[in-house]
Amino acid sequence: MTSLPGLVKRSYDLIKTIERLENYTPMEVEGLYRIVGKDLGQSAKALLDERHDGAGLHFMRVIARHIAEAVEAKEDGKKVILIPFNFPPELIHAFENAVPLTTEVISTIGVTTLEGQGEPYWDYAMSLGIPDYVCSANTIELGSALMSVETLELAPDIIISGAPGSCDANSKIHEFVAEYLDIPELTIDKTGSGKRDYELYRKLFLNMVKELEEFVGEDIDEDKIIEVMERANECTELYWELHELKKHSPCPVPNMFTLFTYGTRFTMWGRDEAISMFEKLVDVAEKRLKRGEYPAEKEIARSLWVYTGYYIDLYDLWIWMENNGITYLTDGLNSFFPAQFEIETKEDALEAIISSAWNYPMTRQMGADNMGIRWFEDLTHVGKELNANCAIYCGHHSCKQTQSVFRIFRDEANKIGIPVLRLDGDAWNRRITPVSVLQEMILDFVQNVVTKRRRRRRR
Ligand code: SF4
Repeated sequence: MTSLPGLVKRSYDLIKTIERLENYTPMEVEGLYRIVGKDLGQSAKALLDERHDGAGLHFMRVIARHIAEAVEAKEDGKKVILIPFNFPPELIHAFENAVPLTTEVISTIGVTTLEGQGEPYWDYAMSLGIPDYVCSANTIELGSALMSVETLELAPDIIISGAPGSCDANSKIHEFVAEYLDIPELTIDKTGSGKRDYELYRKLFLNMVKELEEFVGEDIDEDKIIEVMERANECTELYWELHELKKHSPCPVPNMFTLFTYGTRFTMWGRDEAISMFEKLVDVAEKRLKRGEYPAEKEIARSLWVYTGYYIDLYDLWIWMENNGITYLTDGLNSFFPAQFEIETKEDALEAIISSAWNYPMTRQMGADNMGIRWFEDLTHVGKELNANCAIYCGHHSCKQTQSVFRIFRDEANKIGIPVLRLDGDAWNRRITPVSVLQEMILDFVQNVVTKRRRRRRR
């Protein structure tokens, strides 16, 4: 049906080049843009922007490792475990003979770095008769995984689904792929947000760990999982340091650091690569704070993105906002509230991982007894801490969960003086709404709502 290789195979070829990239000047980045074309060029320009002081390249290497390990694991006979973004990868890092591959991260890599973005894989999924109201965040990568029946893509050995109870679209597409490719799927269901729900979730999670150990053919080693969790604790500390730095105005933490943070969390948490990534982010932000650097004349809006961001054009959205004085403080995906844990045994480590999974974005809010209120409370708590003066919701045609409670969120936010802009479009599919339209809507909102409110408040 198609001769185009899958996302992982194509990304692997690309990252071998990225891993060799060393120092570069802005002129070289411009030259690179001309060679690689617009789709990858926009991302390269954004990631390698001078304000990031090398953090973008560092991030590309982290993601490159994630993909390379999956490809090399296949060659070495290790198991590749496809996990959703709302599943802690540190559990898989505790195995010697298994590696994680995160669905939504692979979709995002496809959208941001490959020519044609995620469109060929989305179209492939649609050509199999999958309805177009599934979530592009996972369907792009899963569309690509479906191509493994034609040997055009790396096939996972097993799928973990962490979405039942919090997102039907996500759960169903993972289930379909497992059926279609005839590979096992392990699911963890969330039934609500009370104590008894947690007890059930915990039991299901521990059962899943046992099944996974049987599948991989290895019992997780106590020393190894403790080491992984000690490194996760270090990541947590650095995450909160970066969060503190975001409280300054103008914000010394560049917009794209939010994306770097959760891209790392969803792939390498508990690994040395994640620690060095976070050290780099904190270091760059501290230096920018000392030098008082901010790319625009002044910071006119401190925006809280209440769910996802847009990944269809990193330069014309994230960098463009910052150049126009609009800070992207954080978003829903970045609000995973990491905690530090005292770990002395394997049991302690598993309890800590279960607690992290329970508090993951989407699981925590969309799997709550009252989605709208939990979502509002969590995000406005973060918004108040970071002194946000506006919020932006990235509309997403398939995200029925957030769409259905958006009104509650907006009305509550308005009551506490945070205006909310609702955008349309799709975070991973530029065919729904082009980035130029998003820019217009954001500028209009900032100029006509946010700055007018600020002026009124000053008067
Ligand atoms: S909650 Fe929305 S964005 Fe998240 S996986 Fe489900 S449909 Fe996609």
